[in-house]
Amino acid sequence: MKRIAIRNLRLCTKDCLCLYVCPTGASDTEDSIIDTSKCIGCGSCSDACPSGAISLVPAEYPAQQRKSEKVMDVMEKLAASKASEEKIASMLSADESAPNLKRLLKALKQSARLSAEDIMREGGYMLPQSGNSLSLLSRLADEPSQGFPKEAAKELLSSIRCNDGGYEPPSAMYKCERCFTEFESSSGDKAVCPMCGAEGNHLKPI
Ligand code: SF4
Ligand code: SF4
Repeated sequence: MKRIAIRNLRLCTKDCLCLYVCPTGASDTEDSIIDTSKCIGCGSCSDACPSGAISLVPAEYPAQQRKSEKVMDVMEKLAASKASEEKIASMLSADESAPNLKRLLKALKQSARLSAEDIMREGGYMLPQSGNSLSLLSRLADEPSQGFPKEAAKELLSSIRCNDGGYEPPSAMYKCERCFTEFESSSGDKAVCPMCGAEGNHLKPI
Protein backbone atom coordinates (compact mmCIF):
# COMPACT_ATOMS: atom_id res chain seq x y z
CA MET A 1 0.00 0.00 0.00
CA LYS A 2 1.42 3.38 -1.02
CA ARG A 3 1.96 5.71 1.93
CA ILE A 4 2.51 9.44 2.17
CA ALA A 5 3.89 11.57 4.97
CA ILE A 6 1.79 14.19 6.72
CA ARG A 7 3.06 16.76 9.21
CA ASN A 8 1.19 17.87 12.33
CA LEU A 9 1.89 21.61 12.30
CA ARG A 10 1.00 21.96 15.99
CA LEU A 11 3.89 19.67 16.97
CA CYS A 12 6.42 20.78 14.38
CA THR A 13 9.20 23.07 15.62
CA LYS A 14 10.11 23.98 12.01
CA ASP A 15 13.26 23.86 9.89
CA CYS A 16 15.01 20.81 11.23
CA LEU A 17 15.88 17.20 10.53
CA CYS A 18 13.18 16.10 8.11
CA LEU A 19 14.42 18.69 5.63
CA TYR A 20 17.88 17.09 5.61
CA VAL A 21 16.84 13.46 5.31
CA CYS A 22 14.06 13.75 2.72
CA PRO A 23 15.44 12.38 -0.57
CA THR A 24 12.94 14.25 -2.75
CA GLY A 25 12.53 17.65 -1.07
CA ALA A 26 8.86 16.89 -0.38
CA SER A 27 9.13 18.04 3.25
CA ASP A 28 10.75 21.39 2.41
CA THR A 29 7.84 23.64 1.45
CA GLU A 30 6.96 27.29 2.01
CA ASP A 31 3.72 26.53 3.85
CA SER A 32 5.11 23.57 5.89
CA ILE A 33 2.60 21.19 4.29
CA ILE A 34 4.40 18.15 2.86
CA ASP A 35 4.20 18.07 -0.93
CA THR A 36 2.44 14.74 -1.45
CA SER A 37 3.14 14.83 -5.19
CA LYS A 38 6.87 14.48 -4.41
CA CYS A 39 6.60 12.18 -1.37
CA ILE A 40 7.62 8.55 -2.03
CA GLY A 41 6.60 7.35 1.45
CA CYS A 42 10.10 6.25 2.50
CA GLY A 43 9.50 7.28 6.15
CA SER A 44 12.94 8.86 6.69
CA CYS A 45 11.34 12.13 7.84
CA SER A 46 9.17 10.45 10.42
CA ASP A 47 12.14 8.41 11.76
CA ALA A 48 14.24 11.58 12.06
CA CYS A 49 11.64 13.95 13.52
CA PRO A 50 12.42 14.67 17.20
CA SER A 51 8.89 15.96 17.86
CA GLY A 52 6.82 13.05 16.55
CA ALA A 53 5.23 15.52 14.15
CA ILE A 54 5.22 13.33 11.04
CA SER A 55 3.04 10.30 10.38
CA LEU A 56 2.83 8.05 7.37
CA VAL A 57 -0.70 7.41 6.20
CA PRO A 58 -2.13 5.38 3.31
CA ALA A 59 -2.31 7.41 0.10
CA GLU A 60 -5.71 5.82 -0.55
CA TYR A 61 -7.95 4.62 2.27
CA PRO A 62 -10.03 1.46 1.83
CA ALA A 63 -13.79 1.91 1.81
CA GLN A 64 -15.37 2.24 5.22
CA GLN A 65 -17.24 -0.75 6.67
CA ARG A 66 -20.97 -0.44 6.11
CA LYS A 67 -23.33 -0.05 9.10
CA SER A 68 -26.96 -1.06 8.89
CA GLU A 69 -29.56 1.69 8.35
CA LYS A 70 -30.99 0.94 11.80
CA VAL A 71 -27.61 1.44 13.52
CA MET A 72 -26.95 4.65 11.59
CA ASP A 73 -30.38 5.98 12.50
CA VAL A 74 -29.92 5.32 16.23
CA MET A 75 -26.38 6.74 16.18
CA GLU A 76 -27.55 9.92 14.46
CA LYS A 77 -30.35 10.40 17.02
CA LEU A 78 -27.89 9.85 19.87
CA ALA A 79 -25.42 12.32 18.39
CA ALA A 80 -28.21 14.89 17.92
CA SER A 81 -29.18 14.53 21.59
CA LYS A 82 -25.53 15.09 22.60
CA ALA A 83 -25.43 18.17 20.38
CA SER A 84 -28.48 19.60 22.10
CA GLU A 85 -26.95 18.77 25.54
CA GLU A 86 -23.90 20.74 24.45
CA LYS A 87 -26.05 23.68 23.38
CA ILE A 88 -27.96 23.74 26.70
CA ALA A 89 -24.73 23.49 28.76
CA SER A 90 -23.28 26.28 26.65
CA MET A 91 -26.25 28.59 27.25
CA LEU A 92 -26.35 27.89 30.99
CA SER A 93 -22.61 28.39 31.36
CA ALA A 94 -22.97 32.02 30.25
CA ASP A 95 -24.14 32.78 33.81
CA GLU A 96 -21.13 34.25 35.67
CA SER A 97 -22.74 34.28 39.15
CA ALA A 98 -21.79 30.69 40.12
CA PRO A 99 -18.17 29.94 39.12
CA ASN A 100 -18.27 26.30 40.26
CA LEU A 101 -21.43 25.60 38.30
CA LYS A 102 -19.89 27.33 35.30
CA ARG A 103 -16.85 25.01 35.49
CA LEU A 104 -19.10 21.96 35.71
CA LEU A 105 -21.17 23.11 32.73
CA LYS A 106 -18.04 23.77 30.73
CA ALA A 107 -16.89 20.19 31.41
CA LEU A 108 -20.35 18.87 30.47
CA LYS A 109 -20.25 20.84 27.24
CA GLN A 110 -16.86 19.39 26.32
CA SER A 111 -17.94 15.89 27.28
CA ALA A 112 -21.12 16.13 25.13
CA ARG A 113 -19.04 17.36 22.15
CA LEU A 114 -16.51 14.50 22.50
CA SER A 115 -19.29 11.92 22.88
CA ALA A 116 -21.10 13.26 19.77
CA GLU A 117 -17.88 13.10 17.75
CA ASP A 118 -17.19 9.56 18.94
CA ILE A 119 -20.75 8.44 18.16
CA MET A 120 -20.54 9.90 14.66
CA ARG A 121 -17.27 8.07 13.99
CA GLU A 122 -18.75 4.81 15.32
CA GLY A 123 -21.89 5.46 13.29
CA GLY A 124 -19.95 5.28 10.03
CA TYR A 125 -18.60 8.80 9.57
CA MET A 126 -14.93 8.02 10.16
CA LEU A 127 -13.62 8.83 6.71
CA PRO A 128 -14.26 12.09 4.88
CA GLN A 129 -14.05 10.10 1.63
CA SER A 130 -16.98 7.85 2.55
CA GLY A 131 -20.30 8.29 0.77
CA ASN A 132 -22.24 8.87 3.98
CA SER A 133 -19.80 11.57 5.26
CA LEU A 134 -20.04 13.39 1.93
CA SER A 135 -23.84 13.06 1.81
CA LEU A 136 -24.07 14.49 5.33
CA LEU A 137 -21.78 17.38 4.41
CA SER A 138 -23.84 18.04 1.30
CA ARG A 139 -27.06 18.10 3.38
CA LEU A 140 -25.49 20.53 5.85
CA ALA A 141 -24.26 22.76 3.03
CA ASP A 142 -27.79 22.92 1.57
CA GLU A 143 -29.75 23.42 4.79
CA PRO A 144 -30.43 26.99 5.97
CA SER A 145 -28.42 27.30 9.18
CA GLN A 146 -26.64 30.16 10.86
CA GLY A 147 -22.91 30.02 11.35
CA PHE A 148 -22.29 26.87 9.29
CA PRO A 149 -19.34 27.45 6.90
CA LYS A 150 -21.24 26.57 3.72
CA GLU A 151 -18.60 27.83 1.32
CA ALA A 152 -15.88 25.74 3.00
CA ALA A 153 -18.22 22.73 2.93
CA LYS A 154 -18.85 23.21 -0.80
CA GLU A 155 -15.13 23.46 -1.45
CA LEU A 156 -14.57 20.22 0.45
CA LEU A 157 -17.35 18.54 -1.48
CA SER A 158 -15.74 19.46 -4.77
CA SER A 159 -12.23 18.41 -3.67
CA ILE A 160 -12.83 15.09 -1.82
CA ARG A 161 -13.33 12.05 -4.02
CA CYS A 162 -15.85 9.50 -2.74
CA ASN A 163 -14.18 6.07 -2.33
CA ASP A 164 -17.20 3.80 -2.00
CA GLY A 165 -19.67 4.96 -4.65
CA GLY A 166 -22.08 6.20 -1.96
CA TYR A 167 -22.14 9.83 -3.06
CA GLU A 168 -22.67 11.36 -6.48
CA PRO A 169 -21.85 15.07 -6.59
CA PRO A 170 -24.70 17.07 -8.13
CA SER A 171 -23.93 18.12 -11.68
CA ALA A 172 -24.65 21.48 -13.31
CA MET A 173 -24.66 22.87 -16.84
CA TYR A 174 -21.93 25.31 -17.91
CA LYS A 175 -21.24 27.39 -20.98
CA CYS A 176 -17.64 28.00 -21.96
CA GLU A 177 -17.16 31.65 -22.90
CA ARG A 178 -14.02 30.82 -24.84
CA CYS A 179 -15.33 28.20 -27.27
CA PHE A 180 -19.11 28.44 -26.50
CA THR A 181 -19.41 24.74 -25.68
CA GLU A 182 -22.23 23.81 -23.30
CA PHE A 183 -21.47 20.88 -21.05
CA GLU A 184 -22.45 19.17 -17.80
CA SER A 185 -20.03 18.77 -14.90
CA SER A 186 -20.19 17.70 -11.26
CA SER A 187 -16.82 19.26 -10.38
CA GLY A 188 -18.19 22.61 -9.17
CA ASP A 189 -15.49 25.34 -9.16
CA LYS A 190 -13.04 22.83 -10.66
CA ALA A 191 -15.09 22.23 -13.82
CA VAL A 192 -13.04 22.19 -17.03
CA CYS A 193 -14.38 22.71 -20.55
CA PRO A 194 -14.10 19.33 -22.33
CA MET A 195 -13.56 21.07 -25.68
CA CYS A 196 -10.87 23.72 -25.06
CA GLY A 197 -9.73 23.10 -21.45
CA ALA A 198 -10.92 26.51 -20.16
CA GLU A 199 -11.74 26.77 -16.47
CA GLY A 200 -12.59 29.25 -13.70
CA ASN A 201 -14.03 32.58 -14.89
CA HIS A 202 -14.28 31.34 -18.48
CA LEU A 203 -17.12 29.03 -17.47
CA LYS A 204 -20.58 30.38 -16.69
CA PRO A 205 -23.28 28.26 -15.03
CA ILE A 206 -26.44 28.13 -17.22
S1 SF4 B 1 8.28 10.01 3.48
FE1 SF4 B 1 10.28 10.23 2.48
S2 SF4 B 1 9.82 11.32 0.57
FE2 SF4 B 1 8.05 11.59 1.90
S3 SF4 B 1 8.41 13.52 2.92
FE3 SF4 B 1 9.21 11.89 4.26
S4 SF4 B 1 11.39 11.71 3.74
FE4 SF4 B 1 10.37 12.88 2.08
S1 SF4 C 1 11.84 17.13 11.79
FE1 SF4 C 1 9.81 17.24 12.74
S2 SF4 C 1 9.85 19.08 14.04
FE2 SF4 C 1 11.58 19.21 12.58
S3 SF4 C 1 10.80 20.40 10.85
FE3 SF4 C 1 10.50 18.24 10.38
S4 SF4 C 1 8.42 17.80 11.10
FE4 SF4 C 1 9.03 19.70 12.05
